[in-house]
This record gives sequence, C-alpha cells and structure tokens, in this order.
Amino acid sequence: DELISQIAAGEVVERPASVVRELVDNALDAGATQVTLRLLAGGVRLISVEDDGQGILRDELPIAFKRHATSKIGNLRDLESVATMGFRGEALAAINSIADCAILSRASGINDAYLLDGRTGELKPVARSQGTTVEVKELFFSTPARRKFLKTDATELAHCIEAVRRHALARPDVGFAIWHEGKLIEQWRRCEQTDPLAALDQRLSDVLGPEFLAQSIRVDWHSRQTSEFSSVPLRVWGRVGVPDAARSRADQQFCYVNGRFVRDKVLTHAARSAYEDVLHGHRQPVYALYLSMDPARVDVNVHPTKIEVRFRDSREVHQAVRHAAEDVLAAPRA
Ligand code: ADP
Ligand code: MG
Repeated sequence: DELISQIAAGEVVERPASVVRELVDNALDAGATQVTLRLLAGGVRLISVEDDGQGILRDELPIAFKRHATSKIGNLRDLESVATMGFRGEALAAINSIADCAILSRASGINDAYLLDGRTGELKPVARSQGTTVEVKELFFSTPARRKFLKTDATELAHCIEAVRRHALARPDVGFAIWHEGKLIEQWRRCEQTDPLAALDQRLSDVLGPEFLAQSIRVDWHSRQTSEFSSVPLRVWGRVGVPDAARSRADQQFCYVNGRFVRDKVLTHAARSAYEDVLHGHRQPVYALYLSMDPARVDVNVHPTKIEVRFRDSREVHQAVRHAAEDVLAAPRA
C-alpha cells in the first residue's frame, strides 16, 4: 500500500506547490473562511496549511491518511456532480508516503484537539481552536532522485504563491495569508461584499493589482435559454482586459469551471478568438473568467491533479465564452 501511495504521489506531487494546492483544496472543502500557509525553504522543508474549517473528529483522523478514504463522495452518482475540490481521497495518503506529515485538528462543537503523526500513527492531545492544520516536512526526503528535480527555493516559493493565488481568485469570501521563513509575504483579506461580482473585483484588485481592475471590463453573460441537454444555464462571468499591448501579460489568464482553476484549450482558444475577432489583433489577452455550468456536463476526473477537464459539449462552451468576451470587447467604452 505504501508503494501504491508513492506511485500515486508521483502523479499528484511534482513539487511543493502541488502539495499546497491539495492542502488548500481540503481547507476550502472543509468550509474554511481563513487559510494560512507557512513555508520554509520554498516549501521543501515545511509546508503548513492552517484553516478554521469544520475540523476532523478524533476517530476519523487516522482515516484521513488512508488511501481512497474520502469523506466527500458516497457513490458513483456523486462523481457525476462533484461539488467539492477533492473527491479521489488520495492526496493525503500520497503526500504522507513521501514526506513527514502531521495533522492537528479540532472538530466543530468539540472541546479537544488532537495531533496525528503520519509516520508513527501516534495520536496525542494538543491545544488549538476549531479547524485543521496539516504539516508536511522534508518533501521527497526518501526519494532523493525526485528531490534533485526541485528548483531553487525562490522558484519553488513562486510556484507555491501561484497555487494560492489561483485559489484566492476563486474564493473572494475566504481570507488567505502566506508566510515564508517567518515573514508575511502575501495577505488577501476576505471580501465582505455580498454582491459576488463586487467581491470578485475587490479580490482581483488585491491579488493582481489595481491596474488589472482599471484596465479590464466586467463580463456577466448567461445563455438565454437552457440547452436541449441541460436545464442548468451556462454562465460566464469575470473580467477581460482592455486591449493594451504594452500591458498584456501571459501570466494573467485565469479560467475557472464551477470554482475550479483549469487549464483548457477550448477556453483559451475561445478567449483568444474573441480578441482576434473584435480587435483583429494578435495580442496576448488578459482575463479572469468563471464558468458555472451543469456539473454533469463537465468531467473533472480526467487527471489526478484535476487541472484538466473534459466538456461534454465543447462547442457549446467555446461559443459561450467567445460571445461573453466579444460582447464586452465590442461595446463602446467611455
Ligand atoms: P479528498 O480531498 O479527495 O477527499 P484527501 O486525501 O485530500 O482526499 O483528504 C482525505 C480526507 O481527509 C478528506 O476526505 C477529509 O475527510 C479529510 N481532510 C483532509 N484535510 C482536511 C481539512 N483541512 N479539514 C477537514 N477535513 C480534512
Ligand atoms: Mg483533497
């Protein structure tokens, strides 16, 4: 089982940022309103993710490290419509097989907190407020060959920050903080606005800078009718950058499907087509676009990292994104 977990780890964990992504996914699935990441040496020596979510009951702590133990889906039908970030139940088991792990947790409504040592399985009482902290030390310590592939601490740190940034842009309602070597290096406060578009604007400004907000246009599009296949309307929202060649940046292209950051050719191509059609340009578009759609019409279980998706009908999605972006890009601006 240890070996199988190590093989799974090879697919899920490429570098510290992969661990960060999985741990933050779990924190968000647990309903956290504040997520704090602490790193040493770019995450190679320590990755600690602390949340104020629902926590884990004492008796369920040992299960968290077990392979394919997920509390999130009960049957195959659930897999058709996953609403949580995680559902495969392999991340913690995989990470525990290639690093020194510990979970500290206090479940909601419970007065005691416990620490589980992932190596020894030892469980002991600790003091903490409601929520969970997962600590991952000395990543790849037992697989020196993998460790050699890591880049400098600064590069690994940059990837870790990027991983949190992707989550932060999906969840303006959650606060995030990143500490490295004892110093606070990023902090994005939770946005209190009740209007989700206003909250998103605030978060985009905090994370990508006020320039992004000033030089982009709001998108808020939804299919006029539901399709013959689905009664859930397709919605595309977010912001696209106004064309300004000098400022266009390749690292400011964010796409989300049902709250999940994805890299997808259909979406990238649709956004690019909108720019080309309206502006006859070949500039690198800048955007943060969010799709919400019938979860049964998109498969997120394509790759262990869940960064790739497969749409049932990619034409429908392509057209939606293209129309959404074209509408605002073509509109006259004040
Ligand atoms: P998955 O997220 O796919 O279910 P993981 O290996 O990431 O699998 O986590 C295993 C289980 O551990 C989760 O299903 C959840 O029950 C529990 N868990 C992990 N992290 C947290 C957390 N931060 N708060 C509450 N429960 C957690
Ligand atoms: Mg998970």
